[in-house]
Amino acid sequence: MRTSQYLLSTLKETPADAEVKSHQLMMRAGMVRKIAAGLYTWLPTGLRTLRKVEAVVRDEMEKAGAIEVSMPVVQPAELWQESGRWEDYGPELCRIKDRGNREFVLGPTHEEVITALVRGEVSSYKQLPLNLFQIQTKFRDEVRPRFGVMRGREFLMKDAYSFHLDKASLEDTYQRMHRAYCNIFTRLGLDFRPVVADTGSIGGSASHEFQVLAESGEDVIAISNGSDFAANVEMAEALAPSTERAAPTGELAELDTPNAKTIDELVSQFGIAIEKTVKTLIVKGASEEAPLVALLVRGDHELNDIKAEKLPQVASPFAFADEADIRAAIGAGPGSLGPVGLKLPVIVDRSVAVMSDFAAGANVDGKHHTHINWDRDAQFTAVADIRNVVAGDPSPCGKGTIELKRGIEVGHIFQLGTKYSEAMKATVLSEQGKATVMEMGCYGIGVSRVVAAAIEQNHDDKGIIWPDAIAPFQVVIIPMNMHKSHRVQDAAERLYAELTGAGIEVLFDDRKERPGVMFADMELIGIPHSIIIGERGLDNDLVEYKNRRDGEKVELAISDVLATLK
Ligand code: ATP
Ligand code: MG
Ligand code: MG
Ligand code: MG
Repeated sequence: MRTSQYLLSTLKETPADAEVKSHQLMMRAGMVRKIAAGLYTWLPTGLRTLRKVEAVVRDEMEKAGAIEVSMPVVQPAELWQESGRWEDYGPELCRIKDRGNREFVLGPTHEEVITALVRGEVSSYKQLPLNLFQIQTKFRDEVRPRFGVMRGREFLMKDAYSFHLDKASLEDTYQRMHRAYCNIFTRLGLDFRPVVADTGSIGGSASHEFQVLAESGEDVIAISNGSDFAANVEMAEALAPSTERAAPTGELAELDTPNAKTIDELVSQFGIAIEKTVKTLIVKGASEEAPLVALLVRGDHELNDIKAEKLPQVASPFAFADEADIRAAIGAGPGSLGPVGLKLPVIVDRSVAVMSDFAAGANVDGKHHTHINWDRDAQFTAVADIRNVVAGDPSPCGKGTIELKRGIEVGHIFQLGTKYSEAMKATVLSEQGKATVMEMGCYGIGVSRVVAAAIEQNHDDKGIIWPDAIAPFQVVIIPMNMHKSHRVQDAAERLYAELTGAGIEVLFDDRKERPGVMFADMELIGIPHSIIIGERGLDNDLVEYKNRRDGEKVELAISDVLATLK
């Protein structure tokens, strides 16, 4: 591909609304453009990488025995009524009507459609097990789309669904998919952990998430340093043997509920139970000596982005702060409030309705950004509490101690059991001729989110550093002042033809630009290998090779370039 005939679309400035590195770099490198909250156009460079991720996922799915299908994005309401999720799913489900006033949804996931398909196509145990997958657009009306394609409203998911006569067969496929997921994320060059996960609203019994380790991750995972135990924090808490909770020793100063002196009193005053809901904020740079900070956040604010620029020093092991203290400590003006701590349980005033979900902890440009997502429609049920699972508690598995790390959920696998097949009457005849409800599994990968997650783990000050497997191009040819030198132009054209002919994906920067502009653009886009061609080297038939990751430069005979890159 020649840059002169391509849509490069790089930006010098970082867009103001891009908070995390991957979002900033995807914008600057000309990979995506936003058209509305959570909705993105993929530009050619972004699409090339997206398709690479897709290809790796597809290849491993096929190797694991899954078969590709394609289901519609628009799904009839009746299927969701059958499964019961028409009522249960909540506001993330986008409901639409056609001209005849019939109701439909934009598919956030495809259990209903696949179950309807398979109950129609499969009637005998002999046709099982069956594992079907697609790589397709999903729509979820996320309460807070953010971080670019990391949490889009429209996004690309690989979703697979398996069908079985019995649990043993489901377990077998589940293990096979677990291995396929490990292969995929390894091939994509990601540092990831499979973690034990909560099954959430989708139902079912066994589940793992695949978490890419990154400071900007919205999830907190508990990892044992003495075994391969890893769980998301909610699940680690649920698994943990019930330990005595240390009574809070701090005072609740000047709170809206002056009678409450401890979290537990506060909780009992509000008449709410501490559920196993565990939410943790880890803000990088906070004092290690401040293991817990609890806050009461008052409800009369329209809290949105909560930014904490400075970190308060919290001396006591269990400290409470009131709003004024927090504002003073972090220098927050009216309308913004930032709770900060090493690990931070947050209690929300009843009048706010609730925090259904919150996540935090991006360390962007040395500034500490913390976010809380508020959901005014939800019921107040959650009290964040991490007292049971904190770094240095013993691991629930009994070996080693727990370390807390932030993660990006890039994949999630579930043993669904018969939740959907029973509700939707998906049965097969067993060997004995008896109608048997099928066991099901489902297996998702956020294909578009993987692109962003890979950037979170692979970048420097200059831009993206693609792992070879998902680079938009493998090689860039950068000719210096080609428009003034026939020799440079000829050599560049010949090398371009040779490398392209050998099946290498080459970007040929044939723009009339200064070398500095070309270098900056190509480093921003993150192409792994550069070949720089200049007059001086050509005197000795030499070009310069530069590696994007380690910056290493070597002189190469022009005749050796292909062999070196192969
Ligand atoms: P999250 O906890 O991040 O909201 P989820 O648990 O709701 O994700 P699943 O239903 O498990 O998501 O969907 C499978 C995969 O789809 C997730 O593991 C994630 O990689 C991806 N995914 C989910 N929501 C989004 C989104 N809004 N944008 C991009 N990818 C997403
Ligand atoms: Mg979600
Ligand atoms: Mg999740
Ligand atoms: Mg999930």
